[in-house]
Amino acid sequence: EKTVGVLALQGGVADHALLLEQLGARVVLVKKPEQLTELDALVLPGGESTTIDRLSRILGLREPLIEAISAGLPTLGTCAGLIMLARSIADPAPGQQSLGLLDVEVGRNAFGSQVDSAETTLTWQDAAGSARPVRAAFIRAPRVISWGEKVEVAARYRGEVVGVRQENLLGISFHPELTGDTTVHEELLSLTER
Ligand code: GLN
Repeated sequence: EKTVGVLALQGGVADHALLLEQLGARVVLVKKPEQLTELDALVLPGGESTTIDRLSRILGLREPLIEAISAGLPTLGTCAGLIMLARSIADPAPGQQSLGLLDVEVGRNAFGSQVDSAETTLTWQDAAGSARPVRAAFIRAPRVISWGEKVEVAARYRGEVVGVRQENLLGISFHPELTGDTTVHEELLSLTER
């Protein structure tokens, strides 16, 4: 049985926990640094990236997160979680920091108000190069503006990059946990087998 943490400072924590439990994982709601040591994988959920950033620093989680993830902990960032993982944010709120682990630049709230909460089916290019449909919800979603050499594009939406992988990291703009699609979470769990 795999133990998967969901960073539980703010945002859409419960739906990730449910999906992971459906896949047979034991879920830990991470609020303290010492909880990171028992994990096989980690999810940084969507929500409000400025709030998650601020709380992570107040609670002393920022440096432990950077340490655990850069040591190879398989980690999935969704929406605000993708923003947290990013090397840089094109349009940060004043004082907003990211963890700087995934070699991408992101832009926040990239898809405008008319698709504020659109649901759609995307094509997900899995690690083996096969195309799989993923049912995705977009809620004030970020886009990936640029990416480094180690980054593979896994999904696009309206011409923009909305899914990437880099070694132990997966970053997606959208919310599969809201549609119940397990494809990306299964890939996260498969990273724990390496
Ligand atoms: N717009 C949010 C942010 O910038 C992200 C939205 C989401 O996580 N659903 O943090």
